[in-house]
Amino acid sequence: MKYVGAHVSASGGVENAPVNAHKIGAKAFALFTKNQRQWFSAPLTRENIDGFKANCEKYGYSPGHILPHDSYLINLGNPVPENLDKSRKAFLDEMQRCEQLGLELLNFHPGSHLKQISEETCLRTIAESINMALDKTKGVTAVIENTAGQGTNLGYRFDHLQYIISLVDDKSRVGVCLDTCHTYTAGYDIKSESGYKTTFEEFEQTVGFKYLKGLHLNDSKKELASRVDRHDSIGKGFLGLEPFRRIMNDPRFDNMPMILETPDTDLWEEEIRLLYSFVTS
Ligand SMILES: [Zn+2]
Ligand SMILES: [Zn+2]
Repeated sequence: MKYVGAHVSASGGVENAPVNAHKIGAKAFALFTKNQRQWFSAPLTRENIDGFKANCEKYGYSPGHILPHDSYLINLGNPVPENLDKSRKAFLDEMQRCEQLGLELLNFHPGSHLKQISEETCLRTIAESINMALDKTKGVTAVIENTAGQGTNLGYRFDHLQYIISLVDDKSRVGVCLDTCHTYTAGYDIKSESGYKTTFEEFEQTVGFKYLKGLHLNDSKKELASRVDRHDSIGKGFLGLEPFRRIMNDPRFDNMPMILETPDTDLWEEEIRLLYSFVTS
């Protein structure tokens, strides 16, 4: 069974996210649990927490199909100690907000070396940051998203993801989210049938599907291996419809949140319907 949804608005309070997801026919959803452009936000209130849980229950969303995303400001591999410290504090706050909401997953971009440290040092720093957050929380899995490799962002190769995981102490609470746009522009050709096959074989060998906790379903405005992160609506970019048809019929992606982060929010309902229409069995 596939659980497709979108990264919906939580404007006015996190309790509105499941309502917004339900409106577009989503079976899964993503959200920011705080303002993603600020370092710190007011704590969640009892009203937020109870309302969120009640609405998830009402519309049938279980924690395993909800994939919150952290703030874009956080860089868990930051080479500057005081900035790293700020990122680690903000990330812990994000993990604790998930705990309060009864959520099990927190999706984040691994980090950037900012041309000041080596890739390896940066990946080690990211793993250390994850260990620190897992140490202070319970029940929430840190879900590392693969990136397009834009600028100095790491996590654009499967072996980056594997290396971080290898350094995480509690392997039961670390996972991966693959973004189709990022995967493609990072240089993995999931567009062709043979490229799709070899990409996910390589993923299984390098990382392992047992660590896969979710997908981001995005088409790409940029070409294969361009290392640029520009999402497009499904079927409107370089990927086209075929890779999404394959994904919707691939049992390796069953029972996990599959989240649209496509630019035209007015199309989400239609995109969800289109994706489900691909399912043949
Ligand atoms: Zn994404
Ligand atoms: Zn992206």
